[in-house]
Parts: sequence; structure tokens; C-alpha cells
Amino acid sequence: MDPLDIISNLHNVRPVFQPIISAIRHDVKGYEVLGRYYSDGEWKSLGSFFHDPDVPEEFKVEVDQYVLNLAITEMLGHEGMLFINRSAKQLMVNNGEDLLEMLLSFQEKGFDMDRIVIEVREHDFDEDFEALNHLLLYYKTYGIQIAVDHVGAKSSNIDRIRQLEPQILKVDTMLTRNHDTQGFQDVMYSLAMLANRIGAALLFENIEDDFQLHFAWKHGGRYYQGFYLGKPEFELSSKESLPTDISGKIFEYIKREKTLVEHRIGLVLSWEQKLKALLSRWEGIKKVDRFIEHVTEEFHTESFRMFICNSDGQQVSSNFRKFEKWEREPDKKGSNWAFRPYFLENVIHMKTLKKGTLSDVYSDIETKELVRTFSYPLTDQYFLFIDIDYSFIFDHEYLLI
Ligand code: CA
Repeated sequence: MDPLDIISNLHNVRPVFQPIISAIRHDVKGYEVLGRYYSDGEWKSLGSFFHDPDVPEEFKVEVDQYVLNLAITEMLGHEGMLFINRSAKQLMVNNGEDLLEMLLSFQEKGFDMDRIVIEVREHDFDEDFEALNHLLLYYKTYGIQIAVDHVGAKSSNIDRIRQLEPQILKVDTMLTRNHDTQGFQDVMYSLAMLANRIGAALLFENIEDDFQLHFAWKHGGRYYQGFYLGKPEFELSSKESLPTDISGKIFEYIKREKTLVEHRIGLVLSWEQKLKALLSRWEGIKKVDRFIEHVTEEFHTESFRMFICNSDGQQVSSNFRKFEKWEREPDKKGSNWAFRPYFLENVIHMKTLKKGTLSDVYSDIETKELVRTFSYPLTDQYFLFIDIDYSFIFDHEYLLI
């Protein structure tokens, strides 16, 4: 498509609206606006026009303004937010005044500015970030919201995202397919933390199937977008017209998640029962290794390593490691583990509530494999740590969450 053709035939340009679904109300929360161009008998995406660095920014602004004008006009009688894409370069044309002027004129017609979400791309931060940040702050004073698009593609921008304080972070769900799962899980974990800290909502886009919707739901996505939930259409879709029964899906996930949690708690309780029964064999700190020998028999399938610490985190027993059979590593006695995250918190928790506790999944320093630790208060001074084998975890789906 020749950019000049598009510019001189704006009457062939129309907006399409892709629905964005809320996890809270299971309803359409708003729409992302995209441009379509009619040529050779079909409607084509304007993506290549907007992403072509050789097309002058002024052209892009003109087409974008044209599309936005039609889109807001269409939205006047409807509810919902409107997500619009703008590059840093486009926003800088005429200091971003064109966009603001149009929005102000629509405000007079009853379209509130806080219904607009400007999507800026994370890689645009490499341009003049200070100027961009300044302009977006100015927009925000009018109530306009900011979303960072394609977040997580580069991990080096956390500081800038923090500075921008966007209301929404858009995560590309396609990343779940292209990246190794573990790597993406870690990126997701950091993003969720960041979103939490700055008070931004996570929006998962490009959701194309049930698996990805489940992933988005499970990882705290407040909004969902993608072909699975609705394609970009000329008409504004409503909950009833969506191809997927979103409430039905989410209740399936809730049911499944509850079952997994129940299974996990059931397992932890059964471990506690086993240990309670063993407590009669506890003969005090002098015979601590002998006690662990009994525990290894009871937890042979589940565990690959165990030891006992006091409430200061000081290891008072040998390490017991499972190779062919269980072996004792006496040199580990005297190690201190109190520096580890949540260690003291856990110990005091166990001591106060007199209950065992299961850690989250983490990567073991020594084996580099994913493990969980089940810990249990033997007395109010001594605590047993049972590291659960990764093969056992992978055999029990409810331990993976
Ligand atoms: Ca976008």
C-alpha cells in the first residue's frame, strides 16, 4: 500500500474495535482501536503503514486522528474505554496538541477523557524518554490513562515503567509460546510484582485459546484481549456477542484451582500426621541424627534431603541426602540458614501455630532443580526441614502451583 494513496483516500479508512474483557465483571470493559484500509476489494490492516519508519510521522498522525475521530463518534452512545496506539514519535509531533485538542472537543460532547487509554510501546522508551514521560504526565492531568504495550519484551525498563506509573501493563501472551516456560514464569513473576508495587493492572493480549486464558487468569490478569475473546470488528461487540463464554470459563478455572489447593492442603495434613506419629521417637538433640533416620523411611518417596535447625537457623543435625540410599553428611552441621528469605518468618510461624508449612516452589542452590520444602516444628526449639524431590513435585500437579 502506498502511504500517499492512503493519505489521499482517507474515506477508505475505518476503525475496528477489539474487545477487552474484565476479569472482575466478565464483561467488555473497552476496545482497542485499530485502523483498516479498503483497497482491491478488501479491508486491510494499517499495521504496516504505522510501523514503517519511512512513512512520515505527520502522515501517521493524520490517519490516526481520522480513525480516532470516527471511533469516538461511534463510542458516543456506548460505555467502555478506548485503547489507542501511539508511538513516541507520533506523540511528539506538534507537542501532542492535536490529540489533546480532539479529546477536549469530544469531552464537550460527553466523552470523558478518562475513558481514553494511550498505549505506548516499551521499546519507544529508547527515544527521548524524558520528553515522552513529560508529555504523558501532562496527558494524565486530564485523566487520560496510560498503558505500556508489549511489556516484558525487554527487562531493562523496569525503572522507566515505574517512573511512568501507567495504569495498565499489556503483556503479550504469545511470549508463553516462544519462551522457555521457566524463563517466562520468572518474567511473569517480576511483572506481577512490579504491577502490584505501582498499582497497575495486568492486561494479557493475544489470547488465542483456553490454555492462554487460563494462564492469564492464573497470573493475575485483570483484563484479557485476543481472538479467543473477540476479533477486531467494525461493530462494538457486547458480552453476548463474544465467541467464548467468559464466565463459564472462569468458573471452570476457579473450580480447578480450588481442587488443586484442597489436594495440596490434604497432602500437607497427611505429612503432619506422619510426623506427629514419629514424635514419640524424638529423644532430644543428642540423638538428632537417629531421629532423622526414622523420618527418611517415612518420606523416602517424597524427599531427597532433610535436616534439623534450631530457631536461630543453626543446623543442629547432619544433612541426610538420598542417593541410592540415604547418606549422612555430617559436615553440614553448624551451617546457618537464617539469611534465606522467609526463614525466620517460617520458624516463628511454626513455633507459634505449632503447624508444619510448605514453601513455594524455588530453585535449589545446590541441585538447581525446582524444589519445595516442608518444615515442621518438632519442639518449640527444633525444626525439621524436608526438601521435596522435583520428580515428586512434577508427578503431583497440585504441588506445582
Ligand atoms: Ca496495542
